Amino acid sequence: MIDGYGRKINYLRLSITDRCNLRCQYCMPEEGVEKLKHSDILSLEEIDEMVSAFVSLGINKIRVTGGEPLVRNGIVSLIEMIRRHPEIKDLALTTNGLLLKQMAKSLKEAGLDRVNVSLDSLKPEKYFRMTRGGSLETVLSGIEEAKRVGLTPIKLNVVIIGGFNDDEIVDFVRMTEDEAIDVRFIELMPIGEVAKWSIKNYLPNKVVLEKVPELIPVVSQDPASPAQYYKLPNGKGKVGLISPISCKFCTNCNRIRLTSEGKLKYCLHSDEEFDLKKALSDKLDLTEYIQQSILNKPLEHHIGKGDIVMRNMVQVGG
Ligand code: SAM
Ligand code: SF4
Repeated sequence: MIDGYGRKINYLRLSITDRCNLRCQYCMPEEGVEKLKHSDILSLEEIDEMVSAFVSLGINKIRVTGGEPLVRNGIVSLIEMIRRHPEIKDLALTTNGLLLKQMAKSLKEAGLDRVNVSLDSLKPEKYFRMTRGGSLETVLSGIEEAKRVGLTPIKLNVVIIGGFNDDEIVDFVRMTEDEAIDVRFIELMPIGEVAKWSIKNYLPNKVVLEKVPELIPVVSQDPASPAQYYKLPNGKGKVGLISPISCKFCTNCNRIRLTSEGKLKYCLHSDEEFDLKKALSDKLDLTEYIQQSILNKPLEHHIGKGDIVMRNMVQVGG
């Protein structure tokens, strides 16, 4: 599938729930979260039909996300369903890791290739505070289990927040020294909740290179990856910098998103959406509908230069 600017779209980020077992301060309000009605959320059968349409259009990489994807009933069957498409070369999932300890093995057996785990602090009390209740120990034991069953390579996603975890950058980078784990620093994006936060909380990713000057750029970079990769001189893992604000990667964008209520989004930073759930119930030709919608994908976003996305990541699908 090719968009209006000639970019090949082969990567689908599939959000399967707007629910979460945490309340990260930058992603969700503490209380008063408006949940979607059960009937508004895509059923497994609807997801199956949509995935088939996407695959027929050339999608060969899927990342399952949310909300927290592991709280969705039927997640293991869903992974099995997606795995039935031989065209899918990479099937991954992004999780906060809390339920990995008990679920990693069945997810691997269902055909999941690998996981990315979001972890913004290595200090139990800080982690608890930022996630409003999460247990660092539980996440770490989930990561160990994911490694044990082979949901690898594991990537850790760390959102850098000025005044909160920028003092832990060196500790996160050191994790890549002895372990084949990739740690990726992500710039905080002014989406939903955090759009009101102080400018001091927003740090450009170059602070990582300032704090750890011994990092060396990795020579062969994947042009479709949003991360710029570096390594410690003897590091087993890599350090990625994902800089959607300071150094955006729109020119090579190969991705689209489907929200848990079946809205197709061609850009994370745009509020424009196409209703695939309705298209399906109206018995429209889904592949035709998707192809037409993709032609509207903009050349680039203008977030960080005035544009604000109203919905939180948990609703959009991170
Ligand atoms: N619950 C899962 C998790 O936390 O990994 C998956 C969904 S979460 C919305 C996906 C990713 O979005 C997480 O890595 C989270 O840190 C990131 N995220 C949420 N809000 C963000 C924001 N405003 N700026 C940057 N990253 C954000
Ligand atoms: Fe939940 Fe993930 Fe959002 Fe945290 S970042 S509140 S774990 S969806």
